[in-house]
Amino acid sequence: MSDRHVAYALIGGGLAAGNCARWLRESGADGPILLIGRESDLPYNRPPCSKGYLQGKESREDVLFRPSQWYEEQGIEALTRVSAMKLDTAEKVVTLSNRETVSFDQALVATGANVKRLNVEGSELEGIHYLRALGNSDTIRGDAAGKHVVLIGGSYIASEVAASLTELGSVCTLVMLEPVVLSRGFGETAGRFFQDRLEERGITVYGDDALERFEGADGRVTRVITKGGRELEADAVVMGTGAMPDVMLARAAGLELGESGGIKVDAHLQTSVPGIYAAGDVAEYESVVHGGRRMRIEHWDVAFNQGKTAALNMLGRKQPHDVVPYFFSDLSDWASLEYVGPAHEWDREIVRGSPEDGEFIIFYMQEGRVAGALSVGRSDDLEHARRLLAAETDVAGRVDELADLSTDLASV
Ligand SMILES: Cc1cc2nc3c(=O)[nH]c(=O)nc-3n(C[C@H](O)[C@H](O)[C@H](O)COP(=O)(O)OP(=O)(O)OC[C@H]3O[C@@H](n4cnc5c(N)ncnc54)[C@H](O)[C@@H]3O)c2cc1C
Repeated sequence: MSDRHVAYALIGGGLAAGNCARWLRESGADGPILLIGRESDLPYNRPPCSKGYLQGKESREDVLFRPSQWYEEQGIEALTRVSAMKLDTAEKVVTLSNRETVSFDQALVATGANVKRLNVEGSELEGIHYLRALGNSDTIRGDAAGKHVVLIGGSYIASEVAASLTELGSVCTLVMLEPVVLSRGFGETAGRFFQDRLEERGITVYGDDALERFEGADGRVTRVITKGGRELEADAVVMGTGAMPDVMLARAAGLELGESGGIKVDAHLQTSVPGIYAAGDVAEYESVVHGGRRMRIEHWDVAFNQGKTAALNMLGRKQPHDVVPYFFSDLSDWASLEYVGPAHEWDREIVRGSPEDGEFIIFYMQEGRVAGALSVGRSDDLEHARRLLAAETDVAGRVDELADLSTDLASV
């Protein structure tokens, strides 16, 4: 026997769960909706944690997915500081950290991702930070602004934090395995463009190197030692070393996991248990726009759109998730990128426009088809890339036209 019953239990208080709640109501769901989140904030947008919010330009209210009164107006019960501790998929009951048991007709598991922690010598020292939530962003601003900061990682998060902290007067040094920033996902042409933007603002970037250990004094970090033999002064460190899907609850519940470690869902985002769906960073889904390839993508836009798809399927719409994944990143207001893909591999890059002029798009080609595209200042071109990617159009014979700025891409 459970304490109470809801029609929809949305587990995880992030964007995917928030947008699922919204689309359930907007699409006519009239039963009780319970959103269960363990953070102290209602669902919010994480991207500002490394950008405007970190810089103090946006407030906590600004970054909320919806203000608190919206949940009341919509009849959505949103719990904060409450974890789902156990999910019984046979009985369809979730047990909460406040000891309440709630039975449900359908559920969404949208538990997101957690940061990957590196355990090297000195990791226990104070002043070493990871960034996932608003609270981490507050701590980093308080501890690292105006100081010497070392960032570990060549990802967009380390690059964005370096840019934001530089705006706050910090002196930043970035160390990464990659040759240039962002090159793992976007290649070296794009990476070089963004690294130049960082370096021209005074950020020192060391590629092809790795963290060896931390040194400290009085319990606090003072130096970062790299495998390449560098000794870097550090009042604070920010780790941008990736994230892992949070499948604690799902694994214990016996939901099938995929190769990426995320929750395995079909093209309709349904898990191995009928009536239980997964969306966002935690979900490894079958992507119809990538020929059925299985993917787990940690992008804001994917979490947002999958929340909607899951809602529609809970309402019986039989809607495959067919949105081309989109990503954006801002290095303060110095440079921004937009991307569709993701291209896991590519055999050729076609550049349209010029990185020197600060306006270009790169098409990542695989066997004559567009597998991904990155735009700086050419959003219209990106829409064409999205169309070519979704249609799997063979453009092998037209690469010169793609690169030629005088070609109207609508004709391709
Ligand atoms: C600093 C930062 C910057 C980013 N910038 C960008 C960007 O510029 N562009 C972009 O496209 N993407 C960006 N992202 C990624 C994007 O924010 C994520 O893809 C998105 O937030 C995923 O949403 P989600 O709802 O799947 O998961 P999350 O946002 O992780 O939400 C999951 C929530 O579930 C909670 N939870 C977990 N387990 C339980 C449980 N058992 N019970 C209750 N609650 C639970 C978690 O605490 C969390 O609050 C950024 C991410 C970070 C961290």
